[in-house]
Amino acid sequence: MNPRPLDGKVALVTGASRGIGRATALALADAGASVAVGFGSSAAAADEVAALIRDSGGKAVTLGADLADMTAAAGLVERTTTELGAIHIVVNNAGITRDNLAVRISDADWDDVLAVDLGAAFRICRAALRPMLRQRDGRIINIASVAGVVGNPGQANYSAAKAGLIGLTKALCREVGSRGITVNAVAPGFIATDMTSALGDVLDSAVAAVPLRRLGSPEEVAAAVRFLALPEAAYITGHVLHVDGGLAA
Ligand code: NAP
Repeated sequence: MNPRPLDGKVALVTGASRGIGRATALALADAGASVAVGFGSSAAAADEVAALIRDSGGKAVTLGADLADMTAAAGLVERTTTELGAIHIVVNNAGITRDNLAVRISDADWDDVLAVDLGAAFRICRAALRPMLRQRDGRIINIASVAGVVGNPGQANYSAAKAGLIGLTKALCREVGSRGITVNAVAPGFIATDMTSALGDVLDSAVAAVPLRRLGSPEEVAAAVRFLALPEAAYITGHVLHVDGGLAA
């Protein structure tokens, strides 16, 4: 088996400074891809991810952008091609939560979550599809959530954004499949990252509802993303791959 099946490929991973994005950047680099490590405010953490990749003989750059800013989001694709020469794989991973019961969600908390979790992903997809369509090669992998499949009380904004991301995935897959581009989503359940540690005690009861009775690791989500980027996954598109310990079964 080829240990570096993504040799020659360039990947952009948003939110790669921490959590699932960090593990994904490392997994894609381990498979041979050059990686643009996207970050928002954690520049030092992103530098560390890029350094780890370079220390293992890979190629990486860090790209900072506030994904609440739509122009900055779209600009990430051009910056990736400028720095690394091409773009073959996009992982729209950056995400935020602003949890509250729907009656208490402010306009700002609705708008921010929709902007970062869905609006930025769309703009990045739109920008990345231009070069991908030309080269007739591309993999887009959107990190959704179980909350976008079954809905989650206290997360109307986040559930709507993630359900929207799944809809975007399915529509794009039909638009660009004839050009050899696949578009898939990964829907994690409860994964051990900063995002879930913010849940505190609520997390224990959440885990009790998971058939596998534990949190997933960022590396377990990254393994699914890596698989969808591989040549072996070329006939998989429009799919939502659950990495959730059975939560949505
Ligand atoms: P995390 O540990 O909180 O990390 C979030 C990442 O997104 C960070 O790298 C952060 O970058 C970046 N980010 C946030 N806001 C940004 C902004 N405005 N501009 C640019 N980057 C921004 O999250 P995670 O748990 O790894 O989650 C990653 C993805 O998986 C998210 O889309 C999340 O919704 C999804 N997900 C997570 C879980 C879970 O249980 N953890 C479950 C389902 C789905 P900086 O720190 O550099 O700002």
